[in-house]
Amino acid sequence: MKIASFNDHRVGIVSEDGIRDVTNALPDFLSQLPWQRINWLISHWPQVKPAIEAVATTAAPVAPQAVKLLAANPGAPHIYAAPANYRKHIGELGERAVTTGGRSAREQGFFLKAPASLLGSGGTLLLPKHTLRRFDHESELAVIIGRTARNVPRDQALDYVFGYSCLIDGTMRIEKGTGEEERTMRKSFDTFTPLGPYLVTADEVGNPGNLYNRLWVNDDLRQQANTSELIVSVAELIEMMSSVLTLQPGDVIATGTPEGVGPMLPGDTVRIEIERVGSMSINVAEHADVSPRAY
Ligand code: MN
Repeated sequence: MKIASFNDHRVGIVSEDGIRDVTNALPDFLSQLPWQRINWLISHWPQVKPAIEAVATTAAPVAPQAVKLLAANPGAPHIYAAPANYRKHIGELGERAVTTGGRSAREQGFFLKAPASLLGSGGTLLLPKHTLRRFDHESELAVIIGRTARNVPRDQALDYVFGYSCLIDGTMRIEKGTGEEERTMRKSFDTFTPLGPYLVTADEVGNPGNLYNRLWVNDDLRQQANTSELIVSVAELIEMMSSVLTLQPGDVIATGTPEGVGPMLPGDTVRIEIERVGSMSINVAEHADVSPRAY
């Protein structure tokens, strides 16, 4: 099943002929905190799925272009992310790399991106106005956690996955000597985490370790890889993260970028496509306001 979050946090089921609004299958109290609808749906999936399917049979389909898509989980409690998780990406940033000595996510662990940076498919990623810094795209498979996970061994880890989505990890690069901010800040500007277009349930995707992952800037194919090349697999990422903290339903894991990262500029259109997960396009523009601190 493909689940859409759209407009003012409506929830829809996506099929070939459009999006069917199934928000009424969810409890009324969620209208008081609509951004939590997807988290609640994930937490109560076995119970709520039949009601969602029933409402979907009576709802009229709406074209995806006719709605404003939100991030696949706009209320994600956390976004955990893997650094350096494709061998050929390690080293390609030269002086701009913060990872040294060829270390991968297996040695480094993980970092966080702020959920405040989430963006939906078709949205606009905003770069700081008048910036001279380099802002890159990173093309990543996103994992959405389905149930509370703590100390989960990798051979059971995929049981804790609710689904998948496409994620662009927008990143401000460091500049040696002048801009050496930490990852969390560089990757957490508003709009720097496009996630979508939909949340695709795990049964539709199957093995997350054999999916083509591609990204285009305008018509240029910039990134092309397969998740079979992940150094730390989806299952091992869940083992690693859950050995540190408790993963919650709705949490997002950005699994890391393959090689080919490069700049995004105002006016660009960036498109990510992951096999069996979907395709999402976003626009890049300059923020309307000059920030009081320059980047
Ligand atoms: Mn990344």
